[in-house]
Amino acid sequence: MDLQKLAESLGVTEVLLKELVEDGRTTWIDGRPRIELRADRPAARMRFTLAHEIAHVLLAQDQTVARRTQGLDHDVLETLCDWVAAALLMPRDWMQRFADRDSYNLSLLRLIANHADVSLSAAAVRLAEVGGRTCMLLRFQRAPRRWVVVGHSGVPKQFIGALEVTSETCLLLDNLVSRRDTWRDLILSARGRTLVARAHLDKSGQTCIALITSMSKDPDS
Ligand SMILES: [Zn+2]
Repeated sequence: MDLQKLAESLGVTEVLLKELVEDGRTTWIDGRPRIELRADRPAARMRFTLAHEIAHVLLAQDQTVARRTQGLDHDVLETLCDWVAAALLMPRDWMQRFADRDSYNLSLLRLIANHADVSLSAAAVRLAEVGGRTCMLLRFQRAPRRWVVVGHSGVPKQFIGALEVTSETCLLLDNLVSRRDTWRDLILSARGRTLVARAHLDKSGQTCIALITSMSKDPDS
C-alpha cells in the first residue's frame, strides 16, 4: 500500500516529519489536511501512524460520516482510526490466509510484519482481529529485581496494564538461553488471578517477546 499516494489522492497537502510529543497529527489549513508525524519513531510505527492519520482524513471528508462520527468519544474515534489503519495496511482478504492457519507463531507474525511493512505488534492485533483467536504480543524486560511487562498488543481490555510476571516465570525467563522461538507455558498474574499462557518466546539478552496463543485461568490456583 503506497500511503503517500493515498494521502495525495485524498487532498493531503504534505506529510511532514517533525518533533512531536504525540505520534502524529492532522491539521486542517484552509480546509485542506496536512499530516505531521513524529520523526524519532521506528519506520514501521510511523507508517502505521500515517495510515491512522489518513483514517482521520477519510472520516472527515465525507460530510455524512463526519457528522456521524463527530459525537464519538475521543478514545472510540482513535480506536476506529486504528482499525481503519490496520485494514489499509493489512486488508482482510490478504490476512485471511494467515489467519486461517492451524496455529500462530512468531515466524508467521514476522512474515506478516515484513510483507505489510508494519510492526510485530500491529501484525498481532490484526491477526487476532481477523482470525478471531487469541494472539497477544507481550514484551518483557529484565529489571534489576525481576522481569516486567513493558509492552503489550492484542491484549483484552480487562488485562491491559494488569498483567504481571510471577516469580515462577521470572525464573523461567532467567534460565532460558537466549534464543529464537521456543514454546513455553508462562504463569502470569492479573489482579490476583493466576493465568497460564501458551507462549512462543524469543529471548535476546535482557528482553524477551512472547506471542501468546492461549491464556486461561490456572486450574491449580
Ligand atoms: Zn488519532
